[in-house]
Order: sequence, then structure tokens, then C-alpha cells
Amino acid sequence: MAESVELPGRLGILPFRNKVLLPGAIIRIRCTSPSSVKLVEQELWQREEKGLIGILPVRDAAETAAAVVPMLSQGVGSDSGERSTRVQVGTSDSQRLDVKNQQENIQWHPRGVAARALHLSRGVEKPSGRVTYTVILEGLCRFSVQELSTRGTYYTARISPLEMTKTEMEQVEQDPDFITLSRQFKATAMELISVLEQKQKTGGRTKVLLETVPVHKLADIFVASFEISFEEQLSMLDSVDLKVRLSKATEIVDRHLQSIRVAEKITQKVEGQLSKSQKEFLLRQQMRAIKEELGDNDDDEDDVAALERKMQSAGMPSNIWKHAQRELRRLKKMQPQQPGYNSSRVYLELLADLPWQNASEELELDLKAAKEHLDSDHYGLVKVKQRIIEYLAVRKLKPDARGPVLCFVGPPGVGKTSLASSIAAALGRKFVRISLGGVKDEADIRGHRRTYIGSMPGRLIEGLKRVAVCNPVMLLDEIDKTGVDVRGDPASALLEVLDPEQNRTFNDHYLNVPFDLSKVVFVATANRVQPIPPPLLDRMEVIELPGYTPEEKLKIAMRHLIPRVLDQHGLSSEFLQIPEDMVKLVIQRYTREAGVRNLERNLAALARAAAVRVAEQEQAVPLSKDVHQLGSPLLENRLADADGGEVEMEVIPMSVNNHEISNTFRIASPLVVDEAMLEKVLGPPRFDDKETAERVASPGVSVGLVWTTFGGEVQFVEATAMVGNGELHLTGQLGDVIKESAQIALTWVRARAADLKLAASEDISILEGRDIHIHFPAGAVPKDGPSAGVTLVTALVSLFSQRRVRADTAMTGEITLRGLVLPVGGVKDK
Ligand code: ADP
Repeated sequence: MAESVELPGRLGILPFRNKVLLPGAIIRIRCTSPSSVKLVEQELWQREEKGLIGILPVRDAAETAAAVVPMLSQGVGSDSGERSTRVQVGTSDSQRLDVKNQQENIQWHPRGVAARALHLSRGVEKPSGRVTYTVILEGLCRFSVQELSTRGTYYTARISPLEMTKTEMEQVEQDPDFITLSRQFKATAMELISVLEQKQKTGGRTKVLLETVPVHKLADIFVASFEISFEEQLSMLDSVDLKVRLSKATEIVDRHLQSIRVAEKITQKVEGQLSKSQKEFLLRQQMRAIKEELGDNDDDEDDVAALERKMQSAGMPSNIWKHAQRELRRLKKMQPQQPGYNSSRVYLELLADLPWQNASEELELDLKAAKEHLDSDHYGLVKVKQRIIEYLAVRKLKPDARGPVLCFVGPPGVGKTSLASSIAAALGRKFVRISLGGVKDEADIRGHRRTYIGSMPGRLIEGLKRVAVCNPVMLLDEIDKTGVDVRGDPASALLEVLDPEQNRTFNDHYLNVPFDLSKVVFVATANRVQPIPPPLLDRMEVIELPGYTPEEKLKIAMRHLIPRVLDQHGLSSEFLQIPEDMVKLVIQRYTREAGVRNLERNLAALARAAAVRVAEQEQAVPLSKDVHQLGSPLLENRLADADGGEVEMEVIPMSVNNHEISNTFRIASPLVVDEAMLEKVLGPPRFDDKETAERVASPGVSVGLVWTTFGGEVQFVEATAMVGNGELHLTGQLGDVIKESAQIALTWVRARAADLKLAASEDISILEGRDIHIHFPAGAVPKDGPSAGVTLVTALVSLFSQRRVRADTAMTGEITLRGLVLPVGGVKDK
């Protein structure tokens, strides 16, 4: 690169359209137009020494309109035989010239760059024979155009150099501003070079340039190598002042540097992602190949992926999630045929299914609505309902209150379950019932450890999985029926469940990770309080539901049961009416229970029969098939044969909705249940008053009241005497307590024989020469308890005195040896 160039006063001009050649830049151009070919021929090719030409940027006038910066306008002139153009910088008042060979106006830039040809080659186009040149040009230095003229077909210009002289340069180099600027530029340029070198991993040849080339030239060289806009190129060309040039160049280089950095960052990111996913892809491919080789099924993998997705969305706490992931990794390594694969899978499915966080949204508790709801579902039970409302009120004021667990105690069918489900409805929570009846194994509550074959989670976890929310109302049904046995004590596991301090981390053996039960609202039911272990009872608040009187049953039947039963059978009162009298008869003759479950069953039997009858009236019966199959005479026989009270409730499936019959059949008058129909459908009365009267017709029989898990029952006691030697025989599956009661009763009667006028005098034993036999009928049913005391005494007195006992009175009560009758409990239950 030449240090300084001697510029001639006039230069042949090659126009560069919308492009700038900067000093220090090297370009290759192909000249094909006649004017440029002529220029190259005359100014370069035919010269002995290497010639110079001027490169002058031009701009399409159309493009610029009120163009930028000073441009040259052409005027018409004549100078020494050449058409000349006076150059008027920055003005446009002179006439415009339509340049020959060019259709459009062009605007010349007033400054250009002198260029030297480094290489020239000449070519001839084949068919036309046209000559073309390929030139490699190097930009040398700036000049400004004084005057533009045409020589033949190309332009020439009178020029003056713009670069500084040596002395000027030296002066500028002393300028502190210039020094800072050049340092700044060099630093930026250096940075750019290192970035580029790093990228291309090339040696530091460019760095040498920085040290050897003067900084003002470097500025041009750097800018020339970037792709920048035409305007920016022009302004660089116009920066004759070195300070301006340097600051402009620094700005452009810096911009370039930044854009490289940003681009690099983006590619790095993309590459990073790509390589990770590519790696995974490769690994998967390999795994697939291995599995194929082993003949494994591919579907399983998708299953596992689905399981993983499910696990991710289960919302497990972080420690459990870690545990689950560990298990999942194990599963992924296993083959489906491998032992343990399935159990591991089932286990993970359970983890994924459990409601770790999923909760039903709790509604704002509306006590009034809750009360209405309870009232509309349940007749009577005023105190119980009041207690439930109190319970709800506490929950409303303190939602996380850890009040005692409610435990409804009472015989079957008194509405314990339905009250619990009403609580759930009032709280706006889901309801789940867990039956504890007959649970003797602790594992039923707590699950089996996974080491056992066929191990399962306990009923609680199972129930939570079923409801799929972590805050349901959970009914622990028949909590009194759990028993201790060799397999552990379920009650102690329940203790943990019901203890608010412990149930936050309930540990199911199968699950093997703690599960938080603290959001569950527990409600329990039991038939009796006594079998419930005291510690468990301590955690609960017992609410007794003693059972209903016949009057209450009647009301419940009329208000709740009949409408429900009719609805369940697709009937309405238009089709079947069960008058109050008949309900009373059903209660008296067909049921003997504390609750209303059998009553409901019997009513359902009536409804079924009525449904058949209604259907029979129309032959085209569009009922579902199941009803067709029950041919009506057959049904009636069946119903008549069946023991009315025991008929299991069957809900006849309706094809569309419950009111289908109503819509299909229009019958003249409703079917009214009468006694005949009762007998036909429910069979002969199971219980009636005559029976008691008949049974106590002879002396020695008395009527007792006993309590069973199914409510109160009438219990007969029969005593008889025969020849013997004073022994007492007892039969009827009696427990120790009741046997002792019999002893006590006999002793008491013997001691009081004279007072009761059973014996003539105190010296005569009433057992003289005879044995006594006491029997409790229904001999197959085990009986126990002390409360048969008074009944036994009555039976014995009746036997010895040969007087009959009243048929309409039943007795209950424990008697002591001295004849005291202890206070009786649960009369209503009995
Ligand atoms: P339990 O759980 O005590 O064995 P359920 O709650 O299953 O009894 O009740 C049996 C049936 O009797 C249910 O259909 C219930 O709605 C009904 N029932 C019980 N008590 C009443 C009542 N007081 N009012 C209305 N229906 C009642």
C-alpha cells in the first residue's frame, strides 16, 4: 500500500452506482458497458505504467429526490473540445443534463477515491465479439471533483486531493483528541479481531496490520470490510477530517462487534439445545435398538412416559417427588417381564393418582342453607341436627379447627350415613365412605408393606384415591366393628388417623411415604359405643341416634321414603298411593326395627309391584328389557313367596328417566294400596300382636325387651318345672352373664317364696322334688347381658304361682340379689 500518492490534475472517472470504494479497499469489477470499456482501455490498458482512475459514487436521482448531502449537478459546457460540466457543489440551480446512454438522471457525489488497477484482464464475448475487461482495483486516496466533463463516451474530472500532507498529518498526530480517538479505535478494532480470530481459530495476521498501518487508513480499511449502507459509506467517504473519520469508524466497528456477540450468543444457545436433544435422541435410538434386539415391546415405553407425565401433574411434595422419581428410574431400567416391574408400576400409578394437592374448593358455609338441607332430608332428629349445625358453625369460624370427630351411634337405618353425607353437602366437599365392619387386620387400615406379594394400600388411602381430593368428608362406617386379633389392632391405626397431631404424616405401609390427612373431615358411625376402645372413643364425640317410634317412622315414610321410592321406580302419586293406614300396617306387621331400612324396602316392594301393574295395563310396554323379563304373574308370585321384609330392594332400570312411565302411561285412576295388596306383595304379616298373646297364654312365659345390633327386640322367656331334684337347666345359647342372671333370679324367687305366696311356709323349698328349666327361644341366636333379670324373675314367679303374665308389656332391667332393679339404659333403642 502506497504511503502517499501523487494525484494528477485530471482523472478518468468510473461511476459507481449506489456504492463507494473507500481507500484501502480492493474490489474486482467487470466492465461491459461501452463507456467503461473505453475508459479502461484508454486510461489503464494502453498505458505503460500503472494508471489511476477515479471512482465516483453516483446515486439514482429517482431514488433520492431531495437527496442527501451535497451531490454534483451537471451543467452544460464546452472546454477544449470536451463537453464539460461545471460542478456546483450542493446546488441544483443549473440545468440538468440528460446523460447519453442513460435514461435516468444521475447525481454525482462531489468526492471520490482515486484507484489503482492491481490486475487487468481482457476478454471477448463469444457471439458478439464485444470486448470486456475485468479489473482489480485498490482504493488509494480521496479527492474532490472540481469539474466533470466527458471525453468520448466516458467522463473525466478535474480534481484536487483531499488527503493531508505530511506536515499536516504530523500536526494532527499531536492533537490529544486525536490520540484518544485513535487509541479508542485501535482498542475496538483489536477486540473485533480477537473475536473473529477466536471464531475462525486463525492466527494473528490481522493484528500485524494494527501495528504497521497508520490509524486513519486503518479506519477506512475496517469500515470498507463491513457491509454498511450506502449512506454510511458516503458519510465515511466525506469524513475528510481525521477525528471525524476515526470516531465514525469506531462507532461502526463497535456496532459490528456487538452484532457478532449477539449472534454468537444466539447460536450458542441454539447449539446447546440442539446438542442436548440430539444426545437424548441418540440415546433413545440406541435404547430402542437394544430393546428391539431383546424382543421387548415398545408400547411399554410410551406407557411409562404417560405415567411420568401423570406423576408430574400430581402435585407431590418435593421429597415425595424425589422418592417417586427414584422409583421411576428403577422402573425404566426394568424389563416388563421382570419380577417386580408390575408392582413397581402399580405403586407409581397410586402415587400419581393420590390427591396430594387436589382439593375441592370449600364453599362459604351458609348455616341457614345447611340447616334447611338437613331439615329437608331428615325428619325429626332435632338435637342431632342442632349438634351438626354447631359443628358446622365452629368450622365456619375456624376452618382449621381440630374439633372432635363426630361419631353417630345408633341402630341400622336411622340415618347415620345420610346425615354424614349431608354434612359433606353442607361443606361443599366430596363424600367417601369407608366400611370398617369386620376389619380385624391392621393392614386393612394401614396397608401391607410392598415386600409382600399382593400387597395393597389401606382402605383410607384407597378411599382417597377414589375421591381424588385431599379434603373429602370421610365416613368411617361401623367403627365399632373393628376387632383386635393376631394380625394387629386396627383401632390403634385408627387412633393415628383421628389424631390431629399425627395424621399430618399418616404412614401407610404400602405407600411408604407420609400422606397428609389433616384436611380430611372424619365422621364415624357405630351401632354401639361399648365395643369402641376407650382411647378411640376419647377422640370422638358420640351423638346418639336412638331409633324411631312408630309415629316417627310413619312421618318419615310419608314425607321422605314414599316420595323417594316412587321417584326411584319412575312412578308418581298419580299411579300409586300408599295411604297412611297402610304404612302403619307395614310398620306394625312387616317391620320390627329401630331404623327405617326395612320399611323402605317394603315400600319399594310395593312400588315395584305397582310398576308392573301400571306397565301391564298397556300392552305396548316401552320399558327397558329387564322389566319385560319380569312377567307379571311370575313377579307377583315371587313377591308373594318372598319373605316381605327380606325382599332386597331392586331398582328397576328405566331407559331414559324416572318419569318415563308417567309420560307413557296415562291411567284413569291411581292404584291405591290396600290390605289385600299388602298381603299379596309382602306376604302374610311377619309380626302381629296375636302372637305375643298366644305365646304368653300359659304361666311361666314372660316378655322381655332386648337390645340387638338391629335395634330392640321382644324376647320371650319360658320357664317350666318337672320332677327332679332341684336343678336349674338353661338353654338358648346363653352367655355367662345371662346364666348368672338366671341363677340370681331363681335365688331371689326362692328367698321370697313365702312373701310371694309361692310356698306355704318359709321352710318349704319350692324346688322340692322338681327341676326348673328356663329357655330363651330362638335357640340358635346367642344371647347375653344382664338386663333379662326382671324378665326371668317374672317368668319364674308366673310359673310357681301359675298366673299368666300380661301380653302387652315387656320388661327390661338388671336385678340384684337383694331385688333391686338397676337403672335401665337405651329404652328407646329397645
Ligand atoms: P344408617 O347409616 O344409620 O344405617 P342410613 O343413613 O343408610 O342409615 O339410612 C337408611 C335410610 O333411611 C336412608 O335412605 C335415609 O335417608 C333414611 N332415613 C333415616 N332416617 C331418616 C330421617 N330421620 N328422615 C328421613 N329419612 C331417613
